[in-house]
Formats: sequence, structure tokens, C-alpha cells
Amino acid sequence: MLSVCLLGIPVGLGALLGHEMSAKEASDVITRDTARSWEDALDQQHRDMEQARRDAEEKLAALTLRMAELQARLLRLDALGERLTTIAKLDRGEFDFSQTPAVGGPEGVVLGEAYEPPDFLQTIDQLTEQISDRQQQLETLEALLAKRKIQRDVFIAGRPVKKGWMSSRYGRRTDPFKGHIAWHNGVDFAGKMGSDVIAVAAGVVTWSGERSGYGEMVEVNHGNGFTTRYAHNSENKVKVGDVIKKGQVVALMGSSGRSTGPHVHFEVFKHGRAVDPSRYIHRTLR
Ligand SMILES: [Zn+2]
Repeated sequence: MLSVCLLGIPVGLGALLGHEMSAKEASDVITRDTARSWEDALDQQHRDMEQARRDAEEKLAALTLRMAELQARLLRLDALGERLTTIAKLDRGEFDFSQTPAVGGPEGVVLGEAYEPPDFLQTIDQLTEQISDRQQQLETLEALLAKRKIQRDVFIAGRPVKKGWMSSRYGRRTDPFKGHIAWHNGVDFAGKMGSDVIAVAAGVVTWSGERSGYGEMVEVNHGNGFTTRYAHNSENKVKVGDVIKKGQVVALMGSSGRSTGPHVHFEVFKHGRAVDPSRYIHRTLR
């Protein structure tokens, strides 16, 4: 009954409007349905494409961010390298941090425009390569500076006191006790009793205690055949075997041993032979 009714209506209408109209009506119905389903499918496709485009944009934005990050890191490394090169007064040719990186900025990638994976990835690869390159340069630079720092630390220079004045030079002089001409094996710095006596370079303490004529004495080995002595102390502040820094307080000034008043008798030995300490007191490292 239902099918007869359903079929009957178009048939009836067809019969009413004529055979030609009926066929057209029928085909219109089919076309409308088909068109609707196609439209739906197209809509879905459009939505999928839109989603895919959004996903791609998000990925691109993430990559752009990553690239900007890499470039920022590179800039920081460049700045650091440049600063270190200047501090170390190195030849620019050796560590050329000022060299312009051969890449474009992330500003060049505009979201929504054609996505060009090869260029983009190539830029990231280039940046990564440059960063590891800079890292290597900086590591070499660091090693170089560390070596120079060690050289500077064991380099004998400066006075063995912070405050005081040179009261006796190295060489021939009138002996302060007996009045005859005698050889002075070091230089004397007079100052306040108990004031700081400091090491003129880094090294290892090889003597700390009383020694004939020297009173309380500290001896430091600096390597490379150099040794220094600090004598007539009121108190020694280091013991044998101590590793000391340049400028470290090794004793307090006194007048122990063969001394007429508070001072430090300072000696410098090069390969076991006493040399004029004033040469080392006044020199500077480059
Ligand atoms: Zn002396």
C-alpha cells in the first residue's frame, strides 16, 4: 500500500503534468540528492584540508620558533666568543666570530604562504652546524685561556707584601750587624709587624719553619726551576705540601732570625741560584 502510494504520487503527478515533466521531476530529485551528498563530501574534504593546513601551520610555527631559538643561541655564542677573543687579545683570523652567518632569518618564513621544506630544513641544518662549529671554537679558546691562566699564575711577578717599602736591595751592601761589606741574597721590604706576606706566584710550599739566619721562613716552589723565600716572619701561615695561589698570605711579617726590625727578606732562585728579585718584582706578563 505504502509503495503504491509513494509510487502513485509521482505517477499521478506525472500523469497530471504530462510524461515529459514527470521524467524531468524524477531526474531532478536524483540530482538534488546526489548533489547534496557530493556537497557534503566536498565540505568534509574542505574541512579536512583546512585541518591539515592548520596542522601544517602549527608545525611550521614550531619550526620557526625552533629556528629563532637556534639563531638566538648562535648570536649569544658569537657575542661570547667575540668578548673572549678581545679579552685574550687573540688574532681575529683564528677565531672569526664576526663572520656573518650565511642564513636568512625566520622573518622570511611567512605563515600561510607556500611551505618549502627543503630550504627551511636546510637553514636549520646550517644553523645547527654553525652552532657546533662555534662550540668547538669556544672550547679551543677556553683551553687556550686556561693554559694562559696557569702560566700567569706561576709567573713570578709583584711584591711579597701588600704594604711596605723596599729597605734593602740585592747585592753588595754593608752588613747591618757587623758593618762589613757582605752580599745580600735578596731584597728586604720593611713594614708593620704582623702585616701580610704574600706569595708572588702560585706554587707548592717546600719549607715552613725556622732556618738558620732566616728565622721563620717559607719557601715556595713555582715549577719551571723557580723558588721563592720569605724570611724573618713572626708567624708562618702555610705548611709544607700546601698548594698556594698567587697573592695568598703565606706568613705574617716579623723580625725573627738575623733581623733588626719587622721586614720580609725575599729571595728568588732560578735553577737553584739566587737572582735579583727586583727583576721579577717589576715585571708584568705582556
Ligand atoms: Zn734581607
